[in-house]
Amino acid sequence: MSQKTVLTGDRPTGRLHLGHLVGSIQNRIKLQNEADKAFYMIADVQALTDNADNPLKVRSNVLEVALDNLACGVDPTKTTMFIQSQIPEIAELTIFFLNLVTLARLKRNPTVKDEMKQKGFGEDVPAGFLIYPVSQAADILFCKANIVPVGEDQKPMIEQTNEIVDDFNRIYGQTFDHVKHLVGDVGRLVGTDGNAKMSKSLNNCIYLSDSNEVIEEKVMQMYTDPTHIHVEDPGKVEGNAVFAYLDVFDPDTKGVAELKAQYEKGGLGDVVLKKRLVGVLHDVINPIRERREYLAQDPKKIMQILKEGTEEARRVAAKTLAEVKEAIKIHYF
Ligand code: ATP
Ligand code: MG
Repeated sequence: MSQKTVLTGDRPTGRLHLGHLVGSIQNRIKLQNEADKAFYMIADVQALTDNADNPLKVRSNVLEVALDNLACGVDPTKTTMFIQSQIPEIAELTIFFLNLVTLARLKRNPTVKDEMKQKGFGEDVPAGFLIYPVSQAADILFCKANIVPVGEDQKPMIEQTNEIVDDFNRIYGQTFDHVKHLVGDVGRLVGTDGNAKMSKSLNNCIYLSDSNEVIEEKVMQMYTDPTHIHVEDPGKVEGNAVFAYLDVFDPDTKGVAELKAQYEKGGLGDVVLKKRLVGVLHDVINPIRERREYLAQDPKKIMQILKEGTEEARRVAAKTLAEVKEAIKIHYF
């Protein structure tokens, strides 16, 4: 049996939200107790691929995403937390992996395609953005991770990583193992606007640091069923974001099932439903936000955790890079 090594990460493009919690963070917390080694990366280099003109945004969010993870229960004594840009070996690996990937293959990656459309890039896509799945393969393989807990949108990245693993091993000799992605209980949490994905870039998020008032405001504006105008009208449950969240976060599943039946029949107003969701989300977010506020009082301590994690990650990276260079036969001296 090979070692169980876990790697996961977030882009420091904003604070983290409920989608991160159920898509990836919950699995990170579970796996840090089960794995032989667990890594958590703040992907600032990847964040720059579509925020090159906004370095302050990326920099300031490094601390924010670290706080979010720590507040949820990522434990730095069990998980090596590090910053991507401080591991130059990842950039080196990316260069070697780029030779194993064609432009056509990069353009076929369905997640990259979606994101390019969303960002309106077209042919003017930054080259760094187009190749980020290759850089992501390097993120995963620098520490020889074999388990990656991610949301559903990341599946194509793992597929592409495994193609790189196969090509690398075939050409240069067995070096890397296949990587398995592990999708959380909810692979893709919808946005408050009903969009298929809650995403920092789409402005449709409920953040893990939102106050009770902000949560209430956002829930009251949430997308439900546009044809459900009067209380007595029958409403649609499918595609209704409020029900999607109740399904995920309300522990009273029987109560939710009854509400769904009533909503479909007619006679249940959106406001009643939304008030219930507000209470449910307060219960989920309050303990996280309180812990976060406590941790945020000592940012130096958080940066120290990241510094020590980064040093540890570099030691691991140096070992893998030595092996890789030997395999590629570019070890000269
Ligand atoms: P950005 O818009 O900047 O890409 P994001 O909201 O997509 O931000 P990322 O930092 O790219 O967040 O993603 C971090 C992790 O969280 C990934 O594993 C991703 O799959 C997961 N994730 C993000 N949004 C969701 C969601 N709505 N549902 C489930 N998982 C999600
Ligand atoms: Mg993303």
